[in-house]
Amino acid sequence: MTLTALAGTPLQVIQEAAEAAGLLFPLDLGARGTCQLGGLIATNAGGTQVIRFGMTRNLVLGLEAVLADGTVISSMNRMLKNNAGYDLKQLFIGTEGTLGVVTRAVLRLFPRLPSKCTALCTLASFADVVALLRQMQTKMGDSLSAYEVMWASYFDYVIEHVEKLRSPFERTFPLYALIETEGTDSADDTERFENALGSALESGVIQDAVIAQSEKDVQTFWAIRDGIAEITPGLMPYASLDVSMTVTDMPGFVEQIDKALAAQFDLITNLVFGHVGDNNLHLFITTGVESDIDQILDTVYKITGDYQGSVSAEHGIGTLKRAYLHYSRNDEELELMRRLKRTLDPNGILNGGRVIQI
Ligand SMILES: Cc1cc2nc3c(=O)[nH]c(=O)nc-3n(C[C@H](O)[C@H](O)[C@H](O)COP(=O)(O)OP(=O)(O)OC[C@H]3O[C@@H](n4cnc5c(N)ncnc54)[C@H](O)[C@@H]3O)c2cc1C
Repeated sequence: MTLTALAGTPLQVIQEAAEAAGLLFPLDLGARGTCQLGGLIATNAGGTQVIRFGMTRNLVLGLEAVLADGTVISSMNRMLKNNAGYDLKQLFIGTEGTLGVVTRAVLRLFPRLPSKCTALCTLASFADVVALLRQMQTKMGDSLSAYEVMWASYFDYVIEHVEKLRSPFERTFPLYALIETEGTDSADDTERFENALGSALESGVIQDAVIAQSEKDVQTFWAIRDGIAEITPGLMPYASLDVSMTVTDMPGFVEQIDKALAAQFDLITNLVFGHVGDNNLHLFITTGVESDIDQILDTVYKITGDYQGSVSAEHGIGTLKRAYLHYSRNDEELELMRRLKRTLDPNGILNGGRVIQI
């Protein structure tokens, strides 16, 4: 259950090849038609099923990379277990092309999951978001494949601004959770899913829920979650943040951000949603004034550091976030990163200036 591909292979081609073999390559994201395996590995891309399958790192068994001096490191392992010395592939996963150029990789495949259950739930508080996550993890086990949460700020904005979208609920709620499970037995999976949501409704953990009855319903629910792509042109200029922290820290974090920004700016829009099951929040913040963006970023990244969170959950550091890396990494970690870079790329010819400055 492995697939070997060249670094320039688009994600969609890999997914289709796995499907043609009756198997599943579970990495999926909006850029599937254009993004390539080398870029996915270099950025350790996340996507929509991290809660179940992990990030790209968890899906790479082996790889081949070329070092700055031309040495080809062929580490095309195909086994799940291999503790023979250092796991050298990790030098090239998530390091944004700064330590070597990935040329091929061996990927891990999984059995296909033909049954899917999807629901959109409304919640009164973040404590309920956490309680529902735990209940779904307990009752649905490994089959929980997405737990996406939208704050009302985001949900209401998308419904109001994207013409084709309608809320399935008659009134608004503080929080919304899009939950999805994938399994192998449709009847059994549906029964367990409905029972889990039914008991959450009875105990008051969720206020209301709509279970998708068709593929069209599934697409409608995801269109609300993915509506950000449609509203960003109208939000410009905005600060886009992709941060992570423990789930229990999330409500305090969002509250503190709102307070800190309100103290500095008159008019502020802060749209919050995220892969909460993966500890990941996305914030789109705007005052409508381009020159405010740096101050907004400084404020949010500083608070992220105070919560011992990460200034980059899945989009990497590149050059734009390099100045904020110290909020999430200590001096010793940063120095080890520099030492690795100096050792493997002393002349700085591989994506110089990204992630760290040597
Ligand atoms: C619509 C959309 C939705 C997205 N959704 C998600 C999401 O849900 N989760 C998520 O994590 N990301 C998401 N992304 C970002 C996504 O992770 C990246 O676009 C993708 O992983 C990078 O692949 P790419 O081929 O586009 O790489 P590029 O953008 O070309 O490169 C990315 C980085 O990798 C380096 N690189 C590229 N190829 C190699 C190689 N062979 N060896 C070494 N370094 C290399 C480049 O130098 C660059 O630093 C999304 C992007 C888009 C456009």
